[in-house]
Amino acid sequence: MHSLLHCHFESALRALEIAKPERVGYLRGVYETDAYLQSTPAERLTLLWQTVMSLTDDADIFTEATFRRVVRRLLDEMQASRIEHIDLRIGPSTGRWRWMHSAGDGIDIFREELSYRTALSITFLAGVNMTKTQDQLDALFDVLSEQDDLTTRIAGVDLNFLPYDLPKFNRYLRTLRNLQTGGMKVNIHLGELFNNAISHYVLARITPDRIGHGVLLLDDEALVDFVRANGICLDMCPTSNTLLGVADWNRTSPARVALQLGIPVSINTDDPVLFRTSLESEFSLAGLTGDEYDQVIACGRKYRYGDA
Ligand SMILES: [Zn+2]
Repeated sequence: MHSLLHCHFESALRALEIAKPERVGYLRGVYETDAYLQSTPAERLTLLWQTVMSLTDDADIFTEATFRRVVRRLLDEMQASRIEHIDLRIGPSTGRWRWMHSAGDGIDIFREELSYRTALSITFLAGVNMTKTQDQLDALFDVLSEQDDLTTRIAGVDLNFLPYDLPKFNRYLRTLRNLQTGGMKVNIHLGELFNNAISHYVLARITPDRIGHGVLLLDDEALVDFVRANGICLDMCPTSNTLLGVADWNRTSPARVALQLGIPVSINTDDPVLFRTSLESEFSLAGLTGDEYDQVIACGRKYRYGDA
């Protein structure tokens, strides 16, 4: 049985897939456009999410009933792909789901649906998207720093940012360290959308519990040493890397490279609806030997959070 350690819940897109599937078809076309093909990985991701936002903008679909269908479909996918556990990145604000008082209402629905499927478990991580405005982030970190109905239900935070967000990273660094000292897990997306100078900067200031992607870190001896010495698992996502142009897994397997360097690795779907992938596809693209596959399965079990 598998553990999925790097998976964004992407609830708006999942709702669209259920309520207006033809719009998700439009998203597929973006991958073929010149604008997409000529862009950097970070620009490509931005382009995709801008398209998702525009497709969900006027959609009057964000009801409690739709949310429940979204959750059930995710649990169906877990069963179909033999995934027993997910560390799931959720939005810590209610976003388009206006009937929610807080993201805790969404977690309640997960818990209720999980109570009917006792073989499955999900641990929640609050996504911290540092590309948001400082005001939005201030509000978010206020929520995360309080012991309330949301923070008692999450295992930690998962950060993503772009190079120009570093001043914001600095602004919240002390809070992040405090959260970590208080027992919250801190995952950070690194070695994906920006160069290793930024990763050096970040890792000199905080030691994450796990790293999202991390494929570019493998090119830097000092970063490899750091990751290995701290036993940090790299949560890799082959299809995402290949579609965004971060690394072409058809040519080489960063997972294999990492394992040979003695670094723990998990294989994941990242944003499975956005990248139209499944865990089966990810493993097939990862091209692992039987022994490497077994190592990845063991890492998933060892490094996942909170065996609920
Ligand atoms: Zn990710």
